[in-house]
Amino acid sequence: MQLDPRLIRCLTTLRLERLLVLSGAGISAESGIPTYRGENGLWRRLDFEKLATHAAFDSDPRAIWSWYRERRDGVRSALPNDAHRAVARLAAVAHEALVITQNVDDLHERAGLAPEHLVHIHGEILETRCEACGSVSDAQATDGQRGCRRCGARAPSARMSCGSTRSWLSSR
Ligand SMILES: [Zn+2]
Repeated sequence: MQLDPRLIRCLTTLRLERLLVLSGAGISAESGIPTYRGENGLWRRLDFEKLATHAAFDSDPRAIWSWYRERRDGVRSALPNDAHRAVARLAAVAHEALVITQNVDDLHERAGLAPEHLVHIHGEILETRCEACGSVSDAQATDGQRGCRRCGARAPSARMSCGSTRSWLSSR
C-alpha cells in the first residue's frame, strides 16, 4: 500500500510547529492487531482476570507466557499501515513532535517514527522487564526462559497494559 501522492505533497510542504498525536488500538487494528475492547477485541473473547493479573501468572505462568508469545508473534508478523506512515511523516516535518500511543506494538517505530518522538503509555509487548532487578530485554530472548539472565530471579515479567495490578510489558 502506498501513501496518496497528494498527502505526501501536503506533508512535505507543511510547516508544522508542534504536533501531538494520540493513537490507540484503531490504528493498529488496520494492520490486523486485535483491539482489547472493540467488537472483536481480546477482552470480549478472553477473560482479562484470567490472563492479565498477578494471580493468573502465579497459577499458570506457562499458559500466560504462551498467550503473550502468540500476541508477540501477531505483532511481529503485522506490518505498519498508511496511518502509521502518515504519522511518521508528519512527525518528521514538524518542528516538535510527540506521539503518545496506547498500543504495545512497534508499528509506529517500523513506519519510521523516531523513538524520541514516541511514548508507549501501556508499555511494549516486545520487551520484558524483570520485576526484581528492573532489567529490560528483548521478549524473543526471554520467551520460555525460566529466570532473569541478569539477577536469576523467577521468569522475568512482561509489563502490563490496561490497569492490571501486575506489570507485564516493558515500560520505559
Ligand atoms: Zn532480574
